[in-house]
Order: sequence, then structure tokens, then C-alpha cells
Amino acid sequence: MQTEVKKANMTNIADIAKEFELTPGQVFSVLNDLGISYEGTSFEADKETVELVRGGCLEHLENKLVTLKPNSSPRDLAFALDVPATDMQKSLIAKFRIMKAIGNPLTEDEARKIVEGYGYQYAVASAAASKPKPKAVAGPKPGEKIHRPPVVTIMGHVDHGKTSLLDYIRKENVAGKEFGGITQHIGAYQVTLPEGVITFLDTPGHAAFTNMRARGAQVTDIAILVVAGDDGIMPQTIEAIQHIQAANVPMIVAVNKMDKEGANAERVLQQLTEHNVIAESYGGQTIVANVSALTGKGVPELLELILLQAEIMELKADPRGDLQGTVIESKLEKGRGPVATLLIENGTLRAGDALVVGSTFGRIKAMTDYRGEKMTEAGPSMPVEVLGMSDVPSAGDKIEFFEDERGARIEAESRVQKDRAKNLTSGGRGLTLRDLRNRMKDDGIRDLNLIVKADVHGSVEAVKGMLEKVKNDEVEAKIILSGVGQITKADIDLAAASDSIVVGFNVKPEGEAKKEAEKRKVEIRTYSIIYELIEDIEAAVKGMLKPKFEEQFIGEAEIRVKMSFSKKGIVAGSYITEGKVTRGAKARVYRGKELIHDGEIVTLKHFKDDVREMSVGQECGITFGDWEGYAEGDRVEAFEVVQVNA
Ligand code: GDP
Repeated sequence: MQTEVKKANMTNIADIAKEFELTPGQVFSVLNDLGISYEGTSFEADKETVELVRGGCLEHLENKLVTLKPNSSPRDLAFALDVPATDMQKSLIAKFRIMKAIGNPLTEDEARKIVEGYGYQYAVASAAASKPKPKAVAGPKPGEKIHRPPVVTIMGHVDHGKTSLLDYIRKENVAGKEFGGITQHIGAYQVTLPEGVITFLDTPGHAAFTNMRARGAQVTDIAILVVAGDDGIMPQTIEAIQHIQAANVPMIVAVNKMDKEGANAERVLQQLTEHNVIAESYGGQTIVANVSALTGKGVPELLELILLQAEIMELKADPRGDLQGTVIESKLEKGRGPVATLLIENGTLRAGDALVVGSTFGRIKAMTDYRGEKMTEAGPSMPVEVLGMSDVPSAGDKIEFFEDERGARIEAESRVQKDRAKNLTSGGRGLTLRDLRNRMKDDGIRDLNLIVKADVHGSVEAVKGMLEKVKNDEVEAKIILSGVGQITKADIDLAAASDSIVVGFNVKPEGEAKKEAEKRKVEIRTYSIIYELIEDIEAAVKGMLKPKFEEQFIGEAEIRVKMSFSKKGIVAGSYITEGKVTRGAKARVYRGKELIHDGEIVTLKHFKDDVREMSVGQECGITFGDWEGYAEGDRVEAFEVVQVNA
């Protein structure tokens, strides 16, 4: 297990409370007395100040005073009184008859009732507490970042229990049973534990994850890979691993269905090693939890591991900083209009704020949390559902704060214009082998990311083995994903997200994948000869990729008469039976099935005029340079040579 990493001068209030067998609320009283400011569950101070607090705690041992900030929520009280948030939520109605959600502010009377109900005395934090003594270091200042909850996505093979796990966590931990459970689905929810809060993105599977990433939105901090203990690693498990690794997101493995007979966690861990996922028990770095989404066994431990991983990652945001957020889900609802779920990443979103979201805009008319509770503010890592956008934004769109709705409208309109212009000119920003060199110069690309698909496992391995050796001083071929089968839309999504080129060996893109690749400007290269594939990639890495040319059939003509002109020699009087014929096109002349000439259309005449092009149904005169060996009834096939993969 990793050792805990903490910010050097942040002191956890719960730790101090434990040391003196006080509740965190009693420690709040001490901090309040000393005029030391604190935020949430910790305070920032030097060693000397911590000692000062310790002394205060010693004095406070017999004192039952619990100090709370005005507008504290039941969740804050649960922390202060050292009771699990779930118990607090249950007691709210059952014991205190207070109908409030866990995160909503309580009135002073309500807070007093609860604190006294737990056998303590209630005090409100004095204003002085926000003005620290000169010696003590202040709490978060504007522009200062504080810890934020981790944002977690669950991935894995179909039927391995992703939805069940999300459901279990949601139902067990949201103390909302008294309200009839959560019926609302907003694409994300939060779970509150005594040790912290976790935000779960509620769309299992890697399609959503990769789609968002393809749009430049990387909101996931930690990925949970669910593997059924009775089933082991399956194709989508491997795909999920590759997507997580490509995104460089830390992974926690949840071996699920451990309640089932035949579940074998060891076997799963062994299989994982083959995909470079090495569990801690095998000497690696990957954290593993054995769980059952059915019985809930092991789930609390999994949640603890998530929080531990989050602590190591030092995830921070500034609630008073610039507003940043991403659209997680969106839809058009009858009677409500465009509805979007936003995940706040930095700053605080307030009801009434004017926003630009992607290329739409609006003013937030209503904001609710995942329980459907009205909210007025949402801070970092908080998912909220908002109403008031002028149009439905797309998942992955970024939000931007505007002083007023008018400004937001102008900006949104200008974005629509710009998008249109961009689509007309360049279309997209996908990487192609041919522009690898330029992109290297401009963007400093060092890796040539590749997605390799092939017909059979053996060829995947062969192609991979050879590609892994392709590198020079500047660029290296890096395989992001490899697998057996056709090139799918999911491959294109990943390619767009990771700036990869898709290489197919003896396979073709599916129809949908082809369309998506065109839309997103993802390059697909297919081969049936392995050495051609390797040569192309080698050439691209060296920046010497030769343009590839292909002949394209453009039309056919029939020679009807051999015409003689005294000055210009003879001309083939022809009739165009299909497509067109152009001057300069390549020409093959057939007599029956036999090819009698392979050359070029040197001149093309319409009566006496030289022309560039003649189409089906027209008569024309053709010469083939020096060659005049044709006869009446011969067939001319015309081709143009075009550069492919340019
Ligand atoms: P998903 O496709 O990964 O979202 O999988 P689901 O959550 O839909 O689960 C697939 C099936 O496995 C369902 O029938 C679940 O009831 C069952 N299942 C999920 N987790 C467990 C578990 O821990 N134990 C057992 N016995 N069954 C489970």
C-alpha cells in the first residue's frame, strides 16, 4: 500500500481530534478560540501553531463545546460530531424531524437541536475565526487551491458488474433512502464518506470516457476496472485497460462477483500481468479490491482505496478561482428545454450565472444536484444539472462564465461562425502520416501513436513485434491499442482522442468507423502485406513517406474509325461509351480481351479543336503519341493517377 502523502503544512482536524479523543467539532472550538481559520476538515499551519492547537485541545478535554460555522450542513455536523454521514441522514428525520438533504445548510436552531441531541453544547464560530492570528497561516485565500473530491469512472467488460457496482454505491451511500432513493439520473453522483467525498460518473463503459477525451475533455481522475472474478479478463477488459493507459489515468482494479462460486481473484491478477497491469501483491503498483456488487462485501474498502489514491494525487482546485467545467450529459426535455449535467472543475457555479457552453449559451435558471435538490452554488468536482441553456450542448463541451447573457450570446454566435469556417477550410486536426513531420515541428510530437487491428491474433502479434522496433532519434512508434477484428468506431474514437493513426492488417473499417474517421479526420491505413505496412511506418518516422499513387478508372471509348490526316498522321475517331476521357490520361487499348497498348492520351480533339475533356455520348479524335497500331472496334480504357493518403 502506498504511504500517505500530505501537504507538509496541512493538518487534518480529525487526526488531532482522535489524538485527544475529542470530536472534530470540539477541535473547531479550539481553533475558533485561537482565531485560526480552517476549511472543511483541515487547517493550514506551521509546527508551532499546531502545538498551540494541541495545548488548546488538552485544555478542552472536559469541555463539551462544539463550534460550527453558520450555515453548516448535516454533512458538516456529521464530521464535527464524528458520526457516519449515513447515520446523520437517518437521524435527521427519524430523530430530529428535520427534512434536509445532507449537503444543504441548516438553520442555527436546527444545528443546535442536532448538536445537543448528540450530547454536546452548540456554539457558532465567531467572525474572528476567519481572521487568523498573524502567526497562524490562513485558510484558503482567493487564488489558493484546496483539495477536491476525485472524479471516478467505472470501466470493464459487459456483464462484469459495472452498473451493479455503481448502483450499489449509490443506494448504500446516499443517505437518501428516507426520500425514496434516487430516481434521478443526471450522469454523475457523489458519495460522502467520513473520510471524504467521491464523484462518480454514472455512465459505465469506455465509450463515454473515450468520447469525452476525443473532445479534449479529460475529467476522470481515477478509473475503476471491473473484472468479474468468475469470468476473468475478456476482450472489453483489455480494451478498457488500453483506453485507461492511453489516457494516463491511475487505475484501481475491482475484482467483482467474489460471492460467486468459482470466483478466483488470483487468476484475474495473473491474467492482468499479461497486460502490464501488475497488482501490488505481484510487486506492481496497481491497487486491487475484491468486491461483490451483489452483497456489498469489499465495497467500503474499494471506496477507501479510491480516497487514498486521490490523496496521493493531491487533487486540487480553487473554489474562488476561474470557473471551469465540462458537460457530462445533455438532453432536450419536454417542458424543461435543454438540460445539461455539468461537472465543475474549478471555481464555483452559481444559479443565475451567464455561461457559454461549447457553441451554445444561456443563464442558469435552475440548478439541482443528483438527488434533484435545488442548489444555489456548486464547487469543484460537484456534478449539477442545469436548466436555461439556449440549445443542447454536447458531452465534453467546456463551460465558460460571462458577466451577462448578452456577452455570452455574442461569444456563442461567434463560435458558431468560427466552427463553420473551420469546417470549411481544414475540417479537423487528425494526424496523418504525411503531416507527421510538420506536426513534429509545430507540436513537438515525439511518439507516433498507432492503433493496430488485424485479422488473427498471430498477425496482431507479428505486426506489433515489428512496429515496436520502429524508431529513430526523434520519433518512436507507440502502440496505443491492438486487437483482432475489423476497425470499429470505438477504435476511431480512441484514435481521435489520442492523436493516433489506425493501421489495419487484412481488415477493413466498418461502415460507421469509416464515416467517423472521415468526420474526425482520423487516418486509416490498411495493408495486406506486412512489409509494406512496416515500410510505410518506417518511412513516416523518417519523414520520407513516399506519396502513394493509385490509378482511378475514369471512362471508356470505342474506336470507330481510323482517320488519316496528311499533316498530323492518323487519329482514332472514337465514341465515348462510359464516363469521360481526358487529355493526358493513362490509356490502355484492348482488342477483345487482349491488351494491345499501354500508354497515354496525347491529344484529344472535338472536330478540329483541341479539348481537355470529352464525356459519355460524345465523339472525339484521340492520338496516342507515336503508337498507331489500333483498329476499328478496339476499346480504350482511360485512367487518372491520383495520390492517395495525401
Ligand atoms: P455491466 O454490464 O458491467 O454493467 O454488468 P451488470 O451490472 O449489468 O451485471 C451483469 C449481471 O451480473 C447482472 O445480472 C448482475 O446482477 C450480476 N452481478 C453483478 N455484480 C455481481 C456480483 O457481485 N455478484 C453476483 N453474483 N452477480 C453480480
